[in-house]
Amino acid sequence: MRLIMLGLPGAGKGTQAKWLAKAIKVPHISTGQIFRDALTNGTPLGLKAKSYTDDGNLVPDEIVIGIVVERLAAADCREQGFILDGFPRTLPQGEALDRWLTENNVRIDRVVELDVAPETVVTRLSGRRLCTGCGKDYNVHYRIPKVEGHCDYCNGELKRRTDDEPAAIRRRLEVDAAATRPLHDFYASRGNLLTVFGEDSIETVFRSILAHLGRTWEG
Ligand code: AMP
Repeated sequence: MRLIMLGLPGAGKGTQAKWLAKAIKVPHISTGQIFRDALTNGTPLGLKAKSYTDDGNLVPDEIVIGIVVERLAAADCREQGFILDGFPRTLPQGEALDRWLTENNVRIDRVVELDVAPETVVTRLSGRRLCTGCGKDYNVHYRIPKVEGHCDYCNGELKRRTDDEPAAIRRRLEVDAAATRPLHDFYASRGNLLTVFGEDSIETVFRSILAHLGRTWEG
């Protein structure tokens, strides 16, 4: 199965993509995570992306498109499908993806859009803390670790992503609202856009997506 996740930053794309990838057994491709990993590994891509991601700006289309196209050509994506999380984020990215799909005779099954109010994502993102050890995410408002500042699973230190600072969140929301609206229209006109209310619990949203995809989940 091949899926695209759409939605504001903090709408839950990453979480739902992670659950879906496990349930339907396809690779989860998060462009944001690719940039964060590249930065952790100190690669030129990571350092270049940092100058954009830190302030909540988008990494230029040509960089992101190149990375995604290379990833989609890998054997696991060809054999199993994929879930794209955080890409496309602009209309030119959507158009470039479309050209690649056509050239490679690949079809997207569903574009899953998570519908969440901007006020909700500000609360979610400003409270988000990630474990520097295992990547597990917490939230100071509602997913609170047992010991403040430390991961329940590996005791790693919990940190806020640089782009979850309030000024960067505001910038990300502005940038995304402008860039992703045309993408919504682009996919809506093709008839494979599935919009799901994203403010329920993670499990409720997940079950709703699976039901629309005609899949069941044993938990
Ligand atoms: P995310 O983890 O999806 O919130 O992405 C974190 C940051 O990575 C974004 O705020 C952007 O700076 C950058 N980024 C991720 N995906 C893209 C993309 N498709 N186009 C441009 N920038 C991106």
